[in-house]
Amino acid sequence: MPLVSLVSVVSVVLVMSLLIAGGPAVTAIPGPGPPTAATLDAWLLEVRAASFPELGDAPLTIERFSSDTVFFMSNIDVGSALHGGPLHLQLFINDAVLDDDADVPGEIALKAVLAHELAHSLDYVQRFSADGAAGLLPLLPMLAWAPAEEEIERRTDLVAVRRGYGFGLAAYRRWLYRRLPAEAVLEKRRIYYSPLELVWLERLATQCPAALDTAIAHPPRDARAIARLGPATCFR
Ligand SMILES: [Zn+2]
Repeated sequence: MPLVSLVSVVSVVLVMSLLIAGGPAVTAIPGPGPPTAATLDAWLLEVRAASFPELGDAPLTIERFSSDTVFFMSNIDVGSALHGGPLHLQLFINDAVLDDDADVPGEIALKAVLAHELAHSLDYVQRFSADGAAGLLPLLPMLAWAPAEEEIERRTDLVAVRRGYGFGLAAYRRWLYRRLPAEAVLEKRRIYYSPLELVWLERLATQCPAALDTAIAHPPRDARAIARLGPATCFR
């Protein structure tokens, strides 16, 4: 594909991603009361070091953004992709996740959603390593076609589950369902695994990890499909 066209297409990825998230904006670190924004940043580095060694020393910047319904987002610096790398990763954090003192997600929940975002980062790095900027193009349909978005997000959930974050992701989604209005919850349920599905997948990852590895290639779409991934003993 000509470079000019590639610039246009990849720019669309970035612009649409930002629109979906409500646009990035730097916000101040909130006041006292654990965890803080600084804690989130530290946990991100911790999860990266512990569970995503494949990222190596890939550059990653943490950005802040505002949104009523999106709290974490993974992206890339388009210029770094177009100039042949190294791919510059970006992780966007909406500090509103910490706003409600009475109901802030717990440490395992926050580390798990950070693991989900780092799983996106790993996907970007692996695609870029294999095919350069063109390797990122297959991600474009997820911005406009619901089934593509659902498959990519479920696969990203599975990668996080495989690395031990299933129960944490379930806890995060339970918090998300409490926090968001009903319409937004329906949208989250469409795109991502539900808390109950994540608990089953965590059991599968523990009891029958090979079955979960197979599922990553073709993510099951619902509870019925998850149950078909292995015998009942895999889910105890
Ligand atoms: Zn995601």
